[in-house]
Amino acid sequence: MNVADSRRLASALEQMGYQSTRKPQEADIIVLNTCVVRQSAEDKAIGRLSSLRPLKEKNPSLVINVMGCLIGVRGNERILEKFPWVDVVSPPSDPKPLLHLLMERLAREKDQIKQTELYAILDGDLVLPHEDQGKLVSAYIPIVYGCSHACTYCVIPSRRGIEHSRDYDEILKEAENLTSQGVKEITLLGQIVDRYGLDLPAQTTLANLLRDLHQINDLKRIRFLTSHPNWVTDELLNAVAELPKVCPHIEVPVQAGDDEILRAMRRGYTASAYRGLIKNIRSRIPGVSIATDIIVGFPGETEAQFQKTYDLLMDLKLDVAHLARYSTRPGTYAARKMEDDVPEEEKMRRFRLLEDLQEKISGEINARLINSPVQVLFEGKSKGRWRGRTPTNKLVFVESLENLRGQERAVKITWTGPWSMIGVLID
Ligand code: SAM
Repeated sequence: MNVADSRRLASALEQMGYQSTRKPQEADIIVLNTCVVRQSAEDKAIGRLSSLRPLKEKNPSLVINVMGCLIGVRGNERILEKFPWVDVVSPPSDPKPLLHLLMERLAREKDQIKQTELYAILDGDLVLPHEDQGKLVSAYIPIVYGCSHACTYCVIPSRRGIEHSRDYDEILKEAENLTSQGVKEITLLGQIVDRYGLDLPAQTTLANLLRDLHQINDLKRIRFLTSHPNWVTDELLNAVAELPKVCPHIEVPVQAGDDEILRAMRRGYTASAYRGLIKNIRSRIPGVSIATDIIVGFPGETEAQFQKTYDLLMDLKLDVAHLARYSTRPGTYAARKMEDDVPEEEKMRRFRLLEDLQEKISGEINARLINSPVQVLFEGKSKGRWRGRTPTNKLVFVESLENLRGQERAVKITWTGPWSMIGVLID
């Protein structure tokens, strides 16, 4: 979500006449787009923010903007008091506060840009920032902003506001526009992406959106994330199965394998319902890959309850598990009402047990692909090798002298590990 927000802002800044630089000491404007989903992310954001102070002292005309969840939809003026070298704060997905400040300054200097032009930039089609033009293969499109589910551990609803879907035609237009600029794959984003459209007057669905996006000629692949187990419908799964451009990959977090913990998290389903869902996904979408998220060490989680999460992962053998240790987030129900009583070392021990288990499972699943042909969409180069993904979202590296960027090619897999694979071009 932040990558998409940053790209939109970069595009608007370029249209105001700015250029990007990789060197902070050269910048006229620095935007820190922040995530605070866990304490570690917040610490990192605060660390980066503190490191900007000397730059501001050296160059007082530097504009420093803090954006995203550290600010939240209600604003966070305290950041300005605590870090006086910050000039302006912006809520998630809202570049306007920074742009207004710049516009005021420019107007004072030489009236370079009018407010109407600024709004045209923000409301109009996204023109890819210069460094992405002709190079960006895979782009994100936010389709649902905010979240109204209120899981007890999660800070996102309070920082990103209530759930609201983006206009259907605007999304189609953005996808067409990105495709016309060379993008081959789009990933639709939402905290509960499968609730897309339910709050719109026309009450459409993600499945409908997928069908319309599928008709964009030069678009090769469509992905979406993140799903919530209660909102994955058969209509959606059937659309994924039927539409060749929609990748057979579902990201559907379970968070825990114990019903009492799931209830305390207010996830709204049981472990057995989740098992049923995985079975349904697999029966409707042949060859599907599935990713999940897990939190270990939620308040009150006993060894026996953790064991149920372990057993669930062992039984379901999902392709990927994103693991996190529970982190108390200010303002959440869990922070107010529950004691963070699983010691850090114990959280780490549980984390490692799941990590080892998942490494083995992912390794075994990937090993089945040895000598098989897979279709890889190449995105760029890493350390001299071309990097791309299979429709099931598996990372593949290939050595080639050809320029493979943006091409979808058949590859024979020659080596596999739990996190990536190596292959050779078939033709
Ligand atoms: N909205 C999706 C959902 O909740 O299913 C995922 C979005 S969230 C940004 C990504 C992941 O961060 C969650 O799935 C969860 O595993 C993890 N997470 C959220 N709050 C957390 C917390 N307080 N402590 C540890 N992990 C957390």
